[in-house]
Amino acid sequence: MFPRVILKGTMIKKSQQKKRTSPCNYKERFFVLDTQDLKYSERRPGKKPMMKGCIELSSIKCVEIVCCDVPIPCNYKYPFQILHDNHYLYIFAPDNDCRQRWVRALKEETKHNNLVTKYHPNILMYGKWRCCQQTEKLAPGCQVYDPLGYASKKPLPQLPDPEMELQNGGQRLVIALQDYTPVEDKNLPLQKDHEYVLIKSSHPDWWAVQDNQGNIGFVPSAYVAEKSDTFERFEWYNKNITRGEAESLLMKEGKEGAFMVRDSRQAGVYTVSVFTKAPGSNGEKNPRVKHYQIRQTETDESAFYLAEKYLFSTIPELILYHQHNAAGLITRLRHPVPQDGVSSRDAADPAEGQWEVDPEELILGQELGSGQFGLVLEGRWRERRVAVKMIRDKSMSDEDFKEEARVMMRFSHCRLVQLYGVCTQHSPMCLVFEFMENGCLSDYLRDRKGGLSQDLLLGMCLDVSEGMAYLESSNFIHRDLAARNCLVSKNNEVKVSDFGMTRFVLDDQYTSSQCSKFPVKWSAPEVIKYCKFSSKSDVWSFGVIMWEIFNEGRLPYENRSNTEVVESLNAGLRLLKPRLAPDAVYMLMEWCWKEKPDDRPSFAHVLHELATLSNL
Ligand code: ADP
Repeated sequence: MFPRVILKGTMIKKSQQKKRTSPCNYKERFFVLDTQDLKYSERRPGKKPMMKGCIELSSIKCVEIVCCDVPIPCNYKYPFQILHDNHYLYIFAPDNDCRQRWVRALKEETKHNNLVTKYHPNILMYGKWRCCQQTEKLAPGCQVYDPLGYASKKPLPQLPDPEMELQNGGQRLVIALQDYTPVEDKNLPLQKDHEYVLIKSSHPDWWAVQDNQGNIGFVPSAYVAEKSDTFERFEWYNKNITRGEAESLLMKEGKEGAFMVRDSRQAGVYTVSVFTKAPGSNGEKNPRVKHYQIRQTETDESAFYLAEKYLFSTIPELILYHQHNAAGLITRLRHPVPQDGVSSRDAADPAEGQWEVDPEELILGQELGSGQFGLVLEGRWRERRVAVKMIRDKSMSDEDFKEEARVMMRFSHCRLVQLYGVCTQHSPMCLVFEFMENGCLSDYLRDRKGGLSQDLLLGMCLDVSEGMAYLESSNFIHRDLAARNCLVSKNNEVKVSDFGMTRFVLDDQYTSSQCSKFPVKWSAPEVIKYCKFSSKSDVWSFGVIMWEIFNEGRLPYENRSNTEVVESLNAGLRLLKPRLAPDAVYMLMEWCWKEKPDDRPSFAHVLHELATLSNL
């Protein structure tokens, strides 16, 4: 019987032989799944497709998505794995829907094979499985493999009729994934990354699209991806709303930093409207709504900015930045207000109950320490050992925190201390975290002074950089990164804790850079001067953590006051090289302490550097 084609499309494959992950290991391939094999070929414009590999479906033992917790160095960010014979093949899909389609179809086709019982949810990197720390390439899996999870219990839904959507759904846009040179008159050339209007998608392989000159023609459907990435899906965007309507909605919300993005009267231009009670420079005192137009630089069409020239290539990136930094606005953008008046806070939240911890389920134990917000107790919650932060009255702006807790709980990474939930029905409010047996990193280092090898110290830096690279890729700024805010697990892994929490501190002594409790010794110059937080200001603090680690928990600038520290930074001086730090490690610290944020490396870069150093 002739094999029947089930799926086909372009994805990126990671080559198997190479040990190191680098961009050149990632190859774009055209995959075809039929009822017998999974084949992949190289397709280059103007050249004949070249078959590069073929996996018999009968040899497949496991197909599953990969929960990759390190930055992915190729353009397609949705990995899945195929274990066949004893080889792992990693394939990166352009979006989650596409990945789900492939994983489901492959599972369905292989469900009667001789499958593994357990698999590795994460990848093998630098000789270690990141999920279970085993070091053997063929180490048995650490998580139960449930092939029926997708395949049989959830059959593929009937595909929507594309024609129908074309008639009802208005304009659909696609983006070219690669260049295409027409082979027939009826075809249209494609230019990678350019947008086209989708005219007809009824044929599975050839879609009709229109370019910005109005030319219509057919292109291979595998060479384009539908553009779903407009910001219309964001809660903060209100498409059809006037300035007056925006003002009345925001006044009604009445919360500092309530905001929305709306269309300006000028076509193609957007305005951010934000509510504030803060006194204005010209003496305005009343609660009011301010409007800021999102501007574009004249030289580079695609760079957006708001009040000051902090440039972003997309509007969502710009909004995200200003959700964390006022940076010239009257207040930072705190609460998105959607047009239908149902803000995320008021809406019935399907996840409600998942983040609210039932006090009945929480058993409190002995004191672990005390911090900014009050006592930290050991506890038990649903068979787990947990750490419970009891929030002292008036120490936290709890309304703001409750909204943010939802965001923070979504972060899940093996190098971040997990927030399990919040108990708000109870007074004092308490936050329930993953328990970290070995306490905070600074004490851990001091207690083991003289007993930690350079390799171990480097490994700790690597752990922190992994957590931070994840936060950076989620556009989340820590704001108070220091060894005291990292914790150590029973397996001696270091995890980043307390991310974003300083935003909820009500103690002025802590929040103003002029005041005694402000962590000046960990702060980048732009934070000390203008409170300008960014992932690059976190990178500065990370340099200080590296210094703390290689000095086995010593306090930076030990006997100096904050004012003296600021003076020496202004004079261009930096912390000295720790005795235990190799030159290359100190060079990385110095790179993190570059005066200009743009001159500092990103966390993705730091992670790469450290991984290279730890492999030497
Ligand atoms: P805060 O955020 O209120 O400033 P900290 O995070 O500094 O509090 O916690 C104070 C102390 O409590 C830490 O130094 C540590 O010893 C202990 N602690 C905090 N979180 C945990 C945890 N998740 N697991 C174990 N101990 C913890």
